Amino acid sequence: MSHDPNCIFCKIVAGQIPSKKAFEDAELLVFHDINPWAPVHVLIIPKVHITTLYDVGPEHDALLGRMLALAPKLMRELGVVNGFRTLINTGDDGRQEVPHLHMHVMGGPRPWSKG
Ligand code: AMP
Ligand code: ZN
Repeated sequence: MSHDPNCIFCKIVAGQIPSKKAFEDAELLVFHDINPWAPVHVLIIPKVHITTLYDVGPEHDALLGRMLALAPKLMRELGVVNGFRTLINTGDDGRQEVPHLHMHVMGGPRPWSKG
């Protein structure tokens, strides 16, 4: 399934739920987390619906590489030049709340509220 009509992040991709976008291209969308842990906290998501990291296959290798490679570029553009954290929660024990693959990227001066 490339789009899940019940998925909150698919709705953000489709523009049915508003978001504060930081980057967009044909494959990826980046928006600011609604409940940030850090001064800058964005979520990098594939536009296609992939539920968790367990659900990726070899066809997603390039997509995953692009998600990771985008993080430092975007952080620099957002003024984060002193380091950042990247985090992907997977499944229940990984404390994944939204079942659409996303990478948290958090940075900015400390203290942070979490993490
Ligand atoms: P996770 O626990 O890794 O699934 O994290 C899901 C993240 O999505 C949390 O940090 C939420 O604050 C964030 N989130 C949930 N709904 C929205 C939304 N509508 N816009 C932006 N961020 C959201
Ligand atoms: Zn989705």
